[in-house]
Amino acid sequence: MYSEKISSYMSQLKEIRKNLLGDVEKNIKSSQEENTEPMADISDGAARSYTSELMLNLGEQDWQKLKLVDEALEKINSGEYGICSLCNDPIPEARLDVMPFAQYCVECLSKIESEEATNRTRVEEIEGNI
Ligand SMILES: [Zn+2]
Repeated sequence: MYSEKISSYMSQLKEIRKNLLGDVEKNIKSSQEENTEPMADISDGAARSYTSELMLNLGEQDWQKLKLVDEALEKINSGEYGICSLCNDPIPEARLDVMPFAQYCVECLSKIESEEATNRTRVEEIEGNI
């Protein structure tokens, strides 16, 4: 892959990261303004890492996205960017253009998604029996 292309993905990834974190910083600020009561678990709160603070405020979906963005940026550094994590085939640039933090090629992704759907059904069946 051309290095120009990689640096364009890199700036897209950094932009996504900035947007994700920008929202969170706003959320943390507004929740602090709303919540003037001292926290009951103050020692816990002090020990709480920035990471879990982020996780709480981002929500599951954005947190996963942030992790993917970080992984993609690491892969750019290690020269593994654009390679499917499962089958090691190159991820098509058309896919990376839409989703620069894509981890898998389309084939592997659909395999993973169908497996996840199966797992989810199993969990629901188990929970339904309790
Ligand atoms: Zn693949």
